[in-house]
Amino acid sequence: MKRRSFLKSSALAGFSMPFIHKLSFASTTGKAAGPLVISSANGLRATAKAMEMIKGGADALDAVIAGVNIVEEDPNDHSVGYGGLPNEEGVVELDSCVMHGPTHNAGSVAALRNIKNPSKVARLVMERTDHELLVGEGALRFAKAHGFKEEDLLTDEARKVWLHWKETLSETDDWFPEDNPDIPANYKELTKTTGTITCLGIDLNGNISGVTTTSGLAFKIPGRVGDSPIIGAGLYVDNEVGACGSTGRGEENLKNLSCFLTVELMRNGYSPQEACMETARRIIKHAKIPSLHRADGRPNFNVRFYALNKKGEFGAASVYGPTKFSVHDGKENKWHQGGGVLKYKK
Ligand code: ASP
Repeated sequence: MKRRSFLKSSALAGFSMPFIHKLSFASTTGKAAGPLVISSANGLRATAKAMEMIKGGADALDAVIAGVNIVEEDPNDHSVGYGGLPNEEGVVELDSCVMHGPTHNAGSVAALRNIKNPSKVARLVMERTDHELLVGEGALRFAKAHGFKEEDLLTDEARKVWLHWKETLSETDDWFPEDNPDIPANYKELTKTTGTITCLGIDLNGNISGVTTTSGLAFKIPGRVGDSPIIGAGLYVDNEVGACGSTGRGEENLKNLSCFLTVELMRNGYSPQEACMETARRIIKHAKIPSLHRADGRPNFNVRFYALNKKGEFGAASVYGPTKFSVHDGKENKWHQGGGVLKYKK
């Protein structure tokens, strides 16, 4: 079917595709128990904002995007948006995707430069194009066409962290590190641990939506795309079942389509918590190549999963746990502790 005639027949069926988010949709198999918003550990402000909007009647997608926008704009979160750690050439490249449960529609951007809020652009890809994913230069041009202004996303602090990394990479290059570099005390942790924010919500209509947004792995090769903009890997929503979002080493997530797996496990009766645990076990089992192992044979990476189901149950689990995560259940906004398959040991 041609796109325009598809739009026309959708409109006849009562859908206005380009502005889908403005409508409210009744879910097809009974209402989900909401309101509920969950997010990664860095998402307590996001869950607060999203719940405030949901209580005011907002669609879950509007709410979770507004929630993560706070973190995208925060220069102190070095794993998301403005202030994110850059690629190996010192350029910040962002990945994001959104998924709207009631329409099972989605949009993504990857390796997007110079735009603070990739989640807003991902949403526009969903609403204003016939595509699902735009990358790099094309994504930037698309964002500018919609009025987004280009800005340098590399903060001074992130630049200094990157420069120190570059200057200490090798003994045989021509870069000399400073004796007392002006970098955050948690430099090592900052550059090794992964970040990203994912946020999932159930609104007052019982509809489920989600978003994931990140600056990706610190010092990645330019053009590298992680799991965060890939539907099924960094995020997946099925309005009749639930949703899952993920953070951590994207490569392993991509090889296992982990968020899709987690939602399918929930469809088959697993609780969100058990589904996240099972997915983390699967990732560990599939991590076979030597570069993914520490000397003692254990994985040298972490991946975290956050999930909710239509009944309003939620959970989280990681390869290495426990997993701290943010939950607003409509009454209280606080951190919860999820599981982990393995415990860190030195
Ligand atoms: N999942 C992100 C990526 O691989 C990184 C992270 O969560 O820190 O791009």
